[in-house]
Amino acid sequence: MGKMIQPDLDFVKELTAAGGGDSLKKCFQCATCSVVCNVTHSDKPFPRKEMIWAQWGLKDKLIADPDIWLCHQCSDCTAHCPRGAKPGEVLGAIRKLSIHTFSKPTLFGKLAGSPAGLLPLLLIPVFIIGAVILGLGRLHHLEGPIVFEKLVPIPAVDAIFISAALFAVLSFWGGIKGFWTAMHKATGLESTKGSPVPAVMSVIPEIIGHKRFDKCDVQSGRTSAHKFVFWGFAGLAVTTTWAVIYLYGLGWEGPYSFSIASQFPLKLLALVSMLSLLYGIWKVISNRNHTEEKAGKGTYFDWTFIYLVLLVGLTGALSWGVRLLGLPSAYFIYFFHLVFVFCLFAYAPFSKMAHMVYRTTAMVFSRHVGLEEE
Ligand code: SF4
Ligand code: SF4
Repeated sequence: MGKMIQPDLDFVKELTAAGGGDSLKKCFQCATCSVVCNVTHSDKPFPRKEMIWAQWGLKDKLIADPDIWLCHQCSDCTAHCPRGAKPGEVLGAIRKLSIHTFSKPTLFGKLAGSPAGLLPLLLIPVFIIGAVILGLGRLHHLEGPIVFEKLVPIPAVDAIFISAALFAVLSFWGGIKGFWTAMHKATGLESTKGSPVPAVMSVIPEIIGHKRFDKCDVQSGRTSAHKFVFWGFAGLAVTTTWAVIYLYGLGWEGPYSFSIASQFPLKLLALVSMLSLLYGIWKVISNRNHTEEKAGKGTYFDWTFIYLVLLVGLTGALSWGVRLLGLPSAYFIYFFHLVFVFCLFAYAPFSKMAHMVYRTTAMVFSRHVGLEEE
C-alpha cells in the first residue's frame, strides 16, 4: 500500500511568502529546469523534484535537502521555465526557511526574515555601542585630532565584537549539527568513509575557485561579482587578524612595533580589500537589476544582506576618508560603521551570510555520503 502524504499547508504558505510566489501553482513538472541546470546531478536531479515536494508541502524533506544548497541561484532554470515559474527563487526561499529552522535562537531568524524585524535588529547594536560610549563618558573626549579610539576604546570594541562573534559561532554550531543530522534522516544516506576530512579538503578549492558559479549562463556576471565580494571579505579578515596580532601579540612598541612604515602594507591591503568589496557588491546589485526580468528580482532576505554589505563597505571607506579630512562627522559615520559590522557578524547565522556555512556543510555531506564525487 502506498504511503499517505501529509502536506504541511502552513509551510506552503510560508514558502510562497518567503519568495516562492505563485511558482508552485504554475509548475506542471515538465523537467526543463533540471535539464538546463548545469550543476545538478544526473541521479535524482534538482530542482524539479524540489518543486513537487514544495507543492506537496514536504517541509522536513526540503529543509534538510542537501541539493537546495548545491544550487547557486544562477537562475538558468527560471529563465527557461515554460510556465513562468521561478524554481531558482523557490530554492532560494527554501534555503531561507532552512536557515531559519536550524539556526537558534529562532526569534532572530524571524526578525531577520521580515521587514518588521529590521528596526529591532538595528537597535540592538545601537543600544550596546551607544551604552558603552555614554557609560565611559567618551563624548567629552572628542576634541583635537580625530582618533576613533577616543569614541570607543579598542578593548571595548574587542569585547563587543568578540561577544558578537561568539554568539554567531555558537548559533552556527548548533544549526550545523541539527542540519547534518536532518540531512542523514531526510536522505536516508550514511557514509562508509569514516572521516569527512577528505570531503572537506575536496570542497575547499571548489569554493575558492567558484567553480560552480562559472557554469551560470543567464547571470554569468555573478561569478566575477561574487569573487570580488569574497576576496574583499577575505582581505579584510586578514587585515583584522594582522592588526589583532600586532595589538595583542607583538605590541605597538618594541622590536616589531606598529610603526607608520610597518602599517603601510596592512593599510594598503585593507584599502584594496574594501575597494574589492564595494566594487563586487555594486556589480551584484547591477547584475540583479539587469537580469531581473529573466532571473527574478530576489527577495527581502537577499536584498537586506546585499545592502548590509554595501553599508559596511561605504561607512568603512567614508569614515576613513572623512577622518583624513579632519571632519568631526567621521565619529558619527564610524559609529554607524560599528553598528553595521555588528549586524553583519552577530546576525550571520540568520542572514543570507549563513549560506557560506550551510552550503559548505551540504557540499561536504554530499561528497561524504557519495551523492557527489570527491
Ligand atoms: S521547468 Fe518550470 S514547469 Fe517545468 S518542472 Fe521546472 S518549474 Fe516546473
Ligand atoms: S538556479 Fe541555477 S543552479 Fe539553481 S537549480 Fe536553477 S539552474 Fe540549477
